[in-house]
Amino acid sequence: MKTLKPRLAVQKMAPYSPPTGGRAGKMRLDFNENTVGCSPRVIEALTRGIGAEGLAVYPEYGEAKTAIARYFQVSPDQFVFTNGTDEAIQVFINTYVDDGQEVIVLKPAYAMYRFYAEVAGAKITEIAYPPEMDFPLDDILRATTKETRAILIANPNNPTGTAVSLDGIAQILRKARHAAVLIDEAYYEFSGITALPEIAPQPNLFVCRTFSKVFGMAAMRLGCLFSNETNVRYLHKAQSPYSVNMLAVRAAQAAVEDVDYVRNYVVEALAARELLCLGLEKLGIAYVPSSANFVLGRFGARALEVRDALRAQGILVRDRSYEAPGCVRITVGTREQTRQMLAALEEIWNNE
Ligand code: PMP
Repeated sequence: MKTLKPRLAVQKMAPYSPPTGGRAGKMRLDFNENTVGCSPRVIEALTRGIGAEGLAVYPEYGEAKTAIARYFQVSPDQFVFTNGTDEAIQVFINTYVDDGQEVIVLKPAYAMYRFYAEVAGAKITEIAYPPEMDFPLDDILRATTKETRAILIANPNNPTGTAVSLDGIAQILRKARHAAVLIDEAYYEFSGITALPEIAPQPNLFVCRTFSKVFGMAAMRLGCLFSNETNVRYLHKAQSPYSVNMLAVRAAQAAVEDVDYVRNYVVEALAARELLCLGLEKLGIAYVPSSANFVLGRFGARALEVRDALRAQGILVRDRSYEAPGCVRITVGTREQTRQMLAALEEIWNNE
């Protein structure tokens, strides 16, 4: 049978399939999720009488939007709900980037920036992090021209864990005033640096947040994409009207009502991050200092061996060698999980 050819942009893409299979029951230090789970209030909200009719109607976002806007200290007109941050990235690209136009991304960075830019047929310019993984501000400023249509930056970045300052972001916004700039704050709660208050005064700034990480709701698929009201009206035009389901917004509304749960998790994860870094130092393993809930360890030629040996003990970590040679990314959750992981790692590392 003659195969039907997809668009050229799709033909050229490499398939992307993250290893999400077979993780149940293992220690999940591989996807930067909340390693414990969401607030019990979320579970309660999801099981509280929804009823057959509740499921029969298309989702209404009004009430949840007001509550979630209050949590983020924005107006309901300053954001859209998205099906995970992944859809925020897609809607952002679909709203601003035409076929052949230039998009700037970093390398290494979250894979979905390149993915959606490729689907759109964009011309992609990649700016490399230096070996020490500090944010390459000068290189980005130099690469940004009138031709640049969009710039996508994670702050802090995945997988490096390194951050850019608000002053650095302000410089990029100025240089890129003809372009749309997305600051992805998926790990904001662990870094404390946010550009969100700047969305009103800055005409070209977009910020996204997710409920997949600190809130422990990755399975629900909910993100928020923020900008000024005018930009948000355009984002709305480019988004399918019901991409976010009713259960996700109901869950998120309950999640933002339990601020203590999030605050306590952050305190625990930051203590665990400290413990992890000390443990790596003790073993003589170099790492990149992190502002997020994960640490990129430099395992050199032993990266894959370490990942596989940990997996054999039920501990999942993520090899990033293809984008950061010799590096394995380790999520931090609780101190107890970190201790267990370090004990297993010590045995593997000293057992050449
Ligand atoms: N942004 C960054 C920087 C990420 O690392 C991830 C997940 N690994 C996401 C976004 C995806 O978030 P979501 O689950 O909301 O699509």
